Amino acid sequence: MGSLVILSGPSGSGKTSIAREVCKRIGEDKTMFSISSTTRLPRKGEKDGIDYYFLTKEEFLEDIEKGYFLEWAEVHGNYYGTSIKPIESAIKEGKIVFLDIDVQGFESVRKIYPNFITSVFVTTKNKQILIDRLKNRGTETEETLRIRLINALNEMKKIDEYDFLLINDIFEDSVEKLEAIAKVSLIKADKQNLEQFIKEWNETKSN
Ligand code: 5GP
Repeated sequence: MGSLVILSGPSGSGKTSIAREVCKRIGEDKTMFSISSTTRLPRKGEKDGIDYYFLTKEEFLEDIEKGYFLEWAEVHGNYYGTSIKPIESAIKEGKIVFLDIDVQGFESVRKIYPNFITSVFVTTKNKQILIDRLKNRGTETEETLRIRLINALNEMKKIDEYDFLLINDIFEDSVEKLEAIAKVSLIKADKQNLEQFIKEWNETKSN
């Protein structure tokens, strides 16, 4: 049995880059970075099937109907969702699965797997650094930047609900920290079937 590591945090906090680097270090055969579906338009350089599965709103709504999503949410006016199947099989194969999802998504997944998930909130040292990163990325208009900053502050208010806070200041340090958390997530996941474990533990007969 593998584990599920949830990463949330403002866009531009660097969570995707950190997680992708951790996957490389632990090994692509032992990890999986879940690719979400979205109705957001691709940014320059983003590729379908690598960064996201880019869907139309109609396609997305159809996938909701078909029950394809473990969770889905509306973020910054677009839909985002996590497909169930690839995640379930990766967990069965013993992999550490990373989900990059917003706070709403985290709250949904936590209800489904309360004892199984390990959650990490990733953010920058302060707001100005986030603004600079988003501006440097060159993907935001004044309006989308404004929306993302409001959303960032709202998300920050939920930090307390996460197992870990990762302040992404020096990339290398953040990678090391997430690697450690990811390895521990496999141990934390042992708490998943507690009732079953206690029942079996109690039924063992002495010789
Ligand atoms: P971006 O548009 O910057 O790629 O992502 C915007 C936000 O959507 C980020 O906070 C990201 O974590 C979140 N997000 C990405 N994929 C999913 C998903 O499948 N489900 C949910 N709930 N949020 C997602």
